[in-house]
Amino acid sequence: MGKEQKPPTGSSRHQRKMTLDEEHRHYVRRNAMIVAGAVLAVGILAGGLVFFYVFFVGGHRVPKVVGLTYDQARKKVEAAGFYIEIDPMQDSSGKCGDLEVTEQDPKAGTDAGEELMVTVRLKGLHETPEAAGVESTTSLNPAPENTDQPVESAPAASLPAAGRTTHSVCIDPGHGSGSMGTVLDEATGLDIGDGDGAAGERVAMWQIAQYAKTRLEQAGYSVTLTKGSQDEKVTLKRRAEIGNTCEITIRLHYDTSLHAVIYPAEGQYKQHGSSPRVYVDPQVARGSEVLAEALFGPLQGAGITKKRNDTGGTSNNSGSAYVGSVFSKVPVVLIENDPGLVRDNPGGQDRVAQALVDGVNAYFNR
Ligand SMILES: [Zn+2]
Repeated sequence: MGKEQKPPTGSSRHQRKMTLDEEHRHYVRRNAMIVAGAVLAVGILAGGLVFFYVFFVGGHRVPKVVGLTYDQARKKVEAAGFYIEIDPMQDSSGKCGDLEVTEQDPKAGTDAGEELMVTVRLKGLHETPEAAGVESTTSLNPAPENTDQPVESAPAASLPAAGRTTHSVCIDPGHGSGSMGTVLDEATGLDIGDGDGAAGERVAMWQIAQYAKTRLEQAGYSVTLTKGSQDEKVTLKRRAEIGNTCEITIRLHYDTSLHAVIYPAEGQYKQHGSSPRVYVDPQVARGSEVLAEALFGPLQGAGITKKRNDTGGTSNNSGSAYVGSVFSKVPVVLIENDPGLVRDNPGGQDRVAQALVDGVNAYFNR
């Protein structure tokens, strides 16, 4: 609570300013309506002229554009009163003007009726990821260093129910590059240094996170990751703090034997040397069990065989699994994936991602 200066009130100068502001607003509004009206009138006139030209003057025959460059085709099509588009199944994000038209729809010479759009396919363009679908995800290589772009090839996930409010999900994509060693948290005495993870784990978890982020966003969720890049080192406490800005947190790891969705349980504690005990918030523990339950069903189809609480931890309450969850103020789960499914396997990674979306949907729609 600092000193706050109140704005001057009641002065004639202040009132005069308000009146001017109001007048200005009226003026702007009136002018905006005049402009909008004029734009509308011009638009209707132009549309009418195009319609008249197409149907009564120029006829409505589609010109032949196969064999032309896209630039030439566009001029010819527009001169004939049509519009042109590149097949949305092709990736036209680069320069296309000099590429050759290989196909057109409708065909040349056809009476296009009311169809005003001529769709062309161009030589040398790749199919868009959306068009290529699931197949393309299996051909993706694991992410190179510092790939923090979301994977764009995930096919559309289940859409959100109409009018649903946006829910927020935090995904912790697991280990950074190299162990941080012991990093003691002063407040709790917990070791919040992140480890290195198993062979291939960091790359695979980063990829799952990218797939899941893309799919969740397609399904209408807002998604936050705890790392900005695959290799970034972030303490376990900081990850939890980032997670606490979302409604739920999902932590991704893999382990040769666990294959489990793990949630923190009430009353667990961890000691490090002579540091004080740290307890899990009972409300967080209950919420985390509900989240684990919602995720467990879909994840059973994606390599997870067990749902369990963290009693005893993954290594007697001293592992990063437990420590990473204990700072959470929102429902949190740790998923120990099956390396046999997801290591170097984009198809398996994407299967986990889809299971996560299904589980998150189940959680928020319960
Ligand atoms: Zn791990």
